[in-house]
Order: sequence, then structure tokens, then C-alpha cells
Amino acid sequence: MDLTKFRRRPTCEVRIGRVTIGGRYPVAVQSMTNTDTNDTAASVAQIERIDRAGGKIVRLTAQGRREGENLANIVRQLRADGYDTATVADIHFVPEVAAIAAQYVDKVRINPGNYRNEHGEFEALIEQCRRRGVALRIGVNHGSLAKRVFDRWGDTPQGMVVSAMEFLRICRERDFDQVVVSMKSSNTRVMVAAYRLLVEAMDAEGMHYPIHLGVTEAGNGLEGRVKSAVGIGALLADGIGDTIRVSLTEAPENEIPVARMLVEHFASRPGEFEVLHPERYSPTAYRRRSHVTVPVVHSEPLDGFRILEARSGNPTAELRAAILNLDVADEPVVVRRRYEEPTLEAVAVKAAADLGPLLLDGLADGIWIDAPGFDEAQIRDVELMILQAARVRFSHTEYIACPSCGRTLYDIEKTLADIKARTSHLKNLRIGVMGCIVNGPGEMADADYGYVGAGPGRITLYKGREVIVRNIPQEEALDRLIELIRENGDWTDAPAGKSGK
Ligand code: SF4
Repeated sequence: MDLTKFRRRPTCEVRIGRVTIGGRYPVAVQSMTNTDTNDTAASVAQIERIDRAGGKIVRLTAQGRREGENLANIVRQLRADGYDTATVADIHFVPEVAAIAAQYVDKVRINPGNYRNEHGEFEALIEQCRRRGVALRIGVNHGSLAKRVFDRWGDTPQGMVVSAMEFLRICRERDFDQVVVSMKSSNTRVMVAAYRLLVEAMDAEGMHYPIHLGVTEAGNGLEGRVKSAVGIGALLADGIGDTIRVSLTEAPENEIPVARMLVEHFASRPGEFEVLHPERYSPTAYRRRSHVTVPVVHSEPLDGFRILEARSGNPTAELRAAILNLDVADEPVVVRRRYEEPTLEAVAVKAAADLGPLLLDGLADGIWIDAPGFDEAQIRDVELMILQAARVRFSHTEYIACPSCGRTLYDIEKTLADIKARTSHLKNLRIGVMGCIVNGPGEMADADYGYVGAGPGRITLYKGREVIVRNIPQEEALDRLIELIRENGDWTDAPAGKSGK
């Protein structure tokens, strides 16, 4: 079996306005607005910026009837300006809004976790979409499973699959195939396991719906890019994925070059390879291959590690095969690859996509990036970020920050920067920074502390899933967050020269 060749999993074609995904079409990149959907001019301007950057599918939140109805004005203005961008409405909680939005947009995304289908609303939506040629996305989120599913399965990848399959079966019973499916989480291990299990479940029932990939709440900067690249890269390397979104807490048009870089990186891989799903990839059977508990970066002592360097055009498959063929099955391994890319961002994204999956899957025990032109400290930081994104070694605070949308109630980019400046030296902590109280608390999932928009200029603070301080003015919120971290014994002072007091 030649494992060094690349093949995408076969899927059916789905039309989203002028864009087709799945089948023989290239992996499409997309983004989402973070403007108020009632603000036509700002939303149109942002969609046009995303389109010019190369994102031809753009989603908007439609949280209520007013936003749903205003999609008509947004689409009309966009077409008048000469843009044929495919538009998607994001629906939470109110099925009636899905029916409104489906009159105007090219695709409707519903979340099975909070879509009430008590009186056949979903079946009616399918028929409405069929009549107008609108696609549907069944978009499951780890942090917002229905109570009924949660009570039986917990917030597990299996629960996410059960949730998606219920809705996919309704689509199939009705012979509606213009359906895309996603299984997002901010935890890369959960996200990758959920997609792999979903593919197995769909294959078992002969379903070939295209797959939308994304890591939610990935944060910003290099760290956000690396986290997305590990999760999305692991699945693209498996041949899974027909459209991707790299969610960043930044201007949405910034997401597009990163997404394109990932797509092009995988598209340039030649030929075919076998998709492997050995037992070890099952989340219930997850285990590390060797005895190493703290994976290493290349500047640390490497005695006792086998160094395996990838040289082919498909490094993930090449290294995976080499590891699985080792004479000593549990020999510790450092995976190594050379990158000639001119920017640190490109080195980080490609290395995360190539090497991150091997760490995430528990196959490799260390990482070694050769990148001439960048100094040791920069490369060490990237290597540590990849280990953290793969959830095998935590060396700095993890931020679970939502990308923001029309529901966001404060300047999340600036707030995230302020929170990072005071807390990034903390270890083994996860801090959720979320734009709204409606979806934020659920979606920050396993964060230790949460900073959530509760109303204009108001913030609610969480410890785990428990509300600690409700609805305080934003000017006080960061100090109160730090007090809360101190009170719980999770605070350490920053090393000299760093902020964080
Ligand atoms: S948490 Fe709220 S504000 Fe943030 S992206 Fe999700 S819905 Fe939008």
C-alpha cells in the first residue's frame, strides 16, 4: 500500500448559490460576518471584503425575525454591487427565522442542539429549501448538544454524531441531498474524533454528504492559526473535508488567506492514499503509543528518541507509516520536517497541519521544525504551540475565544488582547472569551474561567460552568477576572519583564 499519495473522500455535490462544493470541486474556503445583521451597509461591506480576499461563501447570524428579514436587503445590495458571493444564514433557537432566511440566502445552517423540531419544522424547511434551491448545513457544536442527547451521551464525540445523524436521516428519508454537515469543537481532539466517527457512521448508512471543517473559538494570532491548522489538517490529511472555515478572533477577511494556504497545501499532494482509522484513533481507545508523557521540542534533550524526518510531498502519511512500521512498536519518536517558507505564519500553519495530527493521534512524542531564516526562540514557540494545539503538552494559557458575530456585545479583539497581556504567562489554564451569553457559555466548553458578553458594556464571569459575577461593567471585568483567578489559587506572578502583575 502506498501511503504517500493523497485522495479525498468521495462526496456528492452541493450547490450553494454560485459555488459548488463536494464531488470533484476544490475545497472551498468561507468565513462569517461579525457585523450587526440589521446594519445592511456594514454587513455588505464586510462580505465584499471577504469575497475580495477569496472567500466566496459568507455566513451571517440571523438571531431573530428582524435579522432574518434584513438578509433580503443585504443580498439585494450585494448583487447590485456586482458580487455573487454565496450567502448563508446562521440560525439558533428560532426555527421560524430559518423559514424567513431561506427565502433570501443560498444556504441555511441549523444547529441540531438548539433547533426545535417539535412540529415538523425541519421537514417543512427541507421542502422550502428544495423549492428554492437552497442548501442546508447540519452544524453540530460540541458545546451546544440538545439536553436529550447530552443526558444519554454526555458532551462526547459520539453524542455529536448521534445529533447529526438524526437530522441527516430525515434529509435522506425525504430524498434531499443538498446537505452539508459539520462537527465543531474548540478541543481539537474532540473535533477530529467527532468528524472521523461521523464519516464512519455516514459510510455505514451509505451517506456521502460533503463535510464542512472548523475548529471553533480558536482565538487569534499565530496561536489561533496553529490550532485551526492542527484540527483541519488532521482531517484534510485523512481525505476528509469539502469546505473549511478558519475561525479567528480578528477581522473575518484575515481568515481567508490562512484557509487558502491550508487548502493549497493539501491540494498540491499527488495521487491517492488509504484513509486509516485504526483502533487507536477512537476517542474511547485513545492512548499514547510510547511511555513518554511530556512530548518534547527539538531544543530539549533528545536522547532515547528516534528522529524520523519526512521528505516526501505527503509528510503526515509518510511519517504515520514509518511510525506504525517501527521494529520496536513503542519506541519514542520525534517527527521532523524542513520548511523553506518565507513567513513564520506559513511555517507554523504548514508544520501544524503536517506534524500536529501525529501528535494529536498519540503517535509521535516530539516535534522538530527546521526553518532557516527564523531564530531558535521563534521556532521553539511554534513547536510548543503545536504541542498545545494537539493537546499533548500545555505550556501557556489557552484562550477559547469566539470569532464574534452579529450577536457580539463588545470589542472582542481588543478585549482578548487586553486579557492576553495580563494572563498569558499562566500555565495549564483555559480562559474563554465569548461575545454573547446566548451561545458563549455552552461553546467555551471546558474553559476554567469565562469572560462572556452579557449585554452592551456588561460582562458575566464564570468559573467553569458556574456564574460567579453577573452583569458587571466591562471596565471592571478584567480586574475582577484576575481577582477570581487569584482567589482560586490559579494565579502566578509573571516572570520579570512580562506584564501580568
Ligand atoms: S459566542 Fe455568541 S457572539 Fe460569539 S460567535 Fe458564538 S454566537 Fe457569535
